[in-house]
Amino acid sequence: MEMHEIVLNTQSERVAVEFIKKFCSEKQELYDQKILNDADKNQIAKLKHMNIPEEGRSIDTVVNEMMEDIYQYGCHTNHTRFLGFIPGPASEVSWLGDIMTSAYNLHAGSFMNCPAASCIEQELIQWLCEQAGYTNEAGGLFVSGGSMANMTALCAARDKMLTEERQHLGVAYVSDQTHSSVAKGLRIIGIPNTRLRKIPTDMNFRMDMKQLECAIQADIAAGLVPFTVIASVGSTNTGSIDPLEEIALLCNQYNLWMHVDGAFGASVLLTKKYKHLLKGIELSDSISWDAHKWLFQTYGCGMVLVKDKANLVNSYHTNPEYLKDLETDGDCINPYDIGMELTRPARGLKLWLTLQVLGSDRMGAAIEHGFQLVEWAEDELKKNSEIEIISPAQLAIINFRYAPQTFTEDQKDELNLKISKKMIDDGYAGVFTTVLNGKKVLRICAIHPEATEYDMRSTVQRLNQYFNEIYPVMKAELV
Ligand SMILES: *Cc1c(COP(=O)(O)O)cnc(C)c1O
Repeated sequence: MEMHEIVLNTQSERVAVEFIKKFCSEKQELYDQKILNDADKNQIAKLKHMNIPEEGRSIDTVVNEMMEDIYQYGCHTNHTRFLGFIPGPASEVSWLGDIMTSAYNLHAGSFMNCPAASCIEQELIQWLCEQAGYTNEAGGLFVSGGSMANMTALCAARDKMLTEERQHLGVAYVSDQTHSSVAKGLRIIGIPNTRLRKIPTDMNFRMDMKQLECAIQADIAAGLVPFTVIASVGSTNTGSIDPLEEIALLCNQYNLWMHVDGAFGASVLLTKKYKHLLKGIELSDSISWDAHKWLFQTYGCGMVLVKDKANLVNSYHTNPEYLKDLETDGDCINPYDIGMELTRPARGLKLWLTLQVLGSDRMGAAIEHGFQLVEWAEDELKKNSEIEIISPAQLAIINFRYAPQTFTEDQKDELNLKISKKMIDDGYAGVFTTVLNGKKVLRICAIHPEATEYDMRSTVQRLNQYFNEIYPVMKAELV
């Protein structure tokens, strides 16, 4: 390769076109593939030995190797029956937006570097704020995902609610169902686990308000300074929604910042049918919202929304001499002044493209489809009397377990783990386990807009089949 080909590599254009064609033709077969294509020891060993060569190799060879040896391994989160974690089925329109944004390689850290894209990102953030019921003072930023959104908001909360002298006394409140990224983010910004209170949840996995208030009062009595409550909208295990209006009242009373972790569930704001479930979210001070979950974007695309954008500026504004040329007047805020990153891609453009092409109604209907999917699963689960529903269909998530009466709790745990493993080995569907009330349970989270009633019922029927195979063997082993 010649020096002049390092930036303008004319081969890349040809290879890009060939890649897209090949990728698209292979994608047709996705639904016939196993949910998890695990890389075995040999494959990993092979990759570990692929050193960086002193002399470059042919671009065609390397691209083909990458397609065969790297990209195809892992969970197929675009599959209709990938029902684990929060799946991440990505719209092809988002994929296109990602390609376009990479192609132009805009530096979206500052307004001056890319004024038009920054304007679109800001307008889209404003629209999302409106959906949440926030008013004109609101603002926010596209970040890499929910973890980053949580930390970004909580840092603003810390700076707003605690003076530097009192930071070592600040206490935050989550529930036992809050996503682990919240504690992680708090730890990073100087709120260690010893000043994090995990409030128990009720039968429906919602934060217990009495216990929350008791914990706040106990901390005040001990000379500590409560500063934030984190409410979940769509908890990761069960899809539960904390009592938003009650939490807001308490936050008001004790002068606390209310953060809503809606990484998964905030997307419900775009539905007509279920939006009411999130009533009270408008009373919060900040919201995390992932677009690479229930808005069908490619990774990583999340949003942090703040009721008063001045709080982000307060925490993140910088003005070093080498960025003086980029300073703006009040109307156009530089992304680097309201978040952690300086150089960043214009992540919001792909979501904007998706919403432009689909329209908000179809996006809303695609989200509503997830509610329907787990209702079908629930209906099928209820036909089997050996199944105990642990947490009913809620925001596209359901938790259940096979619980034959003759088995002890430990045996039930083992049974359900085996059923999940068998399903994943078999590759028909991705049904994983979680733990609720100390019990190992099976969990289905279904948000794929193209998944069907058949996908859901046949997945449950196959779980039943595995139960019928595994249960007698386990029982025989016990005697
Ligand atoms: C997924 C999730 C997160 C973390 O988001 P990432 O985008 O994976 O960083 C945080 N909170 C909740 C409720 C989530 O579901």
